[in-house]
Amino acid sequence: MSRRDWVDRARFATRAIHAGQAPDETTGSIVPPVHLTSTYVQAAPGKNKGFEYARVSNPTRTALEQNLAALENAKFCSAFASGVACADAIFKSLRPGDHVVVSNDLYGGNYRLFTEVFGPFGIESEFVDVTKIDVVESAMRPSTAILWLETPSNPLMTIADIKRLSRFAHAYHTDVVVDNTFATPYLQTPLDMGADLVLHSTTKYLSGHSDVIGGAICTNSAEWADRLVFQVKCAGAVPGPMDCYLVSRGIKTLHVRMERHCANAFRVAQYLHAHPRVGRVHYPGLPDDAGHALAKRQMHAFGGMIAFQLKDDRIEKALEVLGATRVIALAESLGGVESLIGHPATMTHASIPPDVRRRAGLADSLIRLSVGIENVDDIIDDLDAALLGC
Ligand code: PLP
Repeated sequence: MSRRDWVDRARFATRAIHAGQAPDETTGSIVPPVHLTSTYVQAAPGKNKGFEYARVSNPTRTALEQNLAALENAKFCSAFASGVACADAIFKSLRPGDHVVVSNDLYGGNYRLFTEVFGPFGIESEFVDVTKIDVVESAMRPSTAILWLETPSNPLMTIADIKRLSRFAHAYHTDVVVDNTFATPYLQTPLDMGADLVLHSTTKYLSGHSDVIGGAICTNSAEWADRLVFQVKCAGAVPGPMDCYLVSRGIKTLHVRMERHCANAFRVAQYLHAHPRVGRVHYPGLPDDAGHALAKRQMHAFGGMIAFQLKDDRIEKALEVLGATRVIALAESLGGVESLIGHPATMTHASIPPDVRRRAGLADSLIRLSVGIENVDDIIDDLDAALLGC
């Protein structure tokens, strides 16, 4: 059996370590080399070894793309310089007059990109509650090219029914994009549930160590794959080889890290839920969470992200907690080994106008936690001390 064959048939952890990551044929180096080059020598014009110019392709990038495609059960993958560069490439494949229905709880940077960059070019985005099929239905138009889902969503952790919404959207000839950044392919594979495109900010759990910015899109559609390769070639928002190497290295421990992220987050969510000073906790692993039953069906576990509000819902109280943690660092981003705490209203989601944010249920006092893989008792002790003062 060829290496490719056994890797393709292997289970997730084996694919995470080996897919696209064959040892170097010339030296036997177990880690594929990082190809620091901008161009490739040709024997004659057009006679090359599959690589011509590194904006278009680079073997270190190809290795990452093959690896991610294997994890998402995809035929194709294109890596980009960031998560937002992925969203940009998808939107640039649309045309003026196209309409996009988008989850109303989503990463603030994508909201800004869709409304402020693509709105003026005639691509209209409509933000709706995608947990309600009748609401999605009333937003659909003949010109709706894409249904954009983020599940679990950032920051409210709502769960969208990928299977049902994909079936529904396809009846309208609308393609479905799932931002799988929070779940990762370890917890859910949206293409298997009918989605057409899966997007990642590889900056987060995939790389996992808060040391690189990147993105990737996986698909089984040859048509979409061609469009994305075209965007890569024309617009060039590509990751450098060192960045690709860092993401590939991170992915090799994704399954182990995700297990601990999920276990720690579950304990932290239970702790917060029982805390007398904490009000609502948004975590799909809690049995009373609105998305719990669906998340149980759709995901292998509930992820490492939590959002919560204090009972005393004044913003200054939330800011006190945000400033009081010691183990948990106050910072943007998520998905790294270190626990992070953030304030969506002034940080990750500040680019969404306050009234739009509030209408979508994102309170100014909401606190978001990216639960890391430190000892969970230290994370809880840290929160305990920070919550004492409020
Ligand atoms: N998607 C989600 C769910 C995110 O949280 C983020 C960033 O926080 C992005 C996309 C954008 O990714 P990047 O920061 O790598 O551009």
